[in-house]
Amino acid sequence: MRPTSPGLEARREKTLDASIPPPSEDLLENYALQRLNEEESATVCEHLLVCSDCQEELEELEEYGRAMKRETARLMPPSQPSKLRQFWTTVLTPTS
Ligand SMILES: [Zn+2]
Repeated sequence: MRPTSPGLEARREKTLDASIPPPSEDLLENYALQRLNEEESATVCEHLLVCSDCQEELEELEEYGRAMKRETARLMPPSQPSKLRQFWTTVLTPTS
């Protein structure tokens, strides 16, 4: 077979090397968030072993996930329920 364009040929070779179909970005994201079932995460895991592209992608997704967690913690500090408790303590505690 005669290569039509070097770029296309390289891409095809890469896919063959990986041998496992690349997971969709959704799948990778859910893998990063540990939302996949055993079978799905095994598929992604297998692909990650042979695909450095997806390894990098996953690292970015994990970093994004950590950043999201930090942001969530910052915006909704766990002090909120204790504030409520404080309120009730104030209400229920006799002032005189
Ligand atoms: Zn990949």
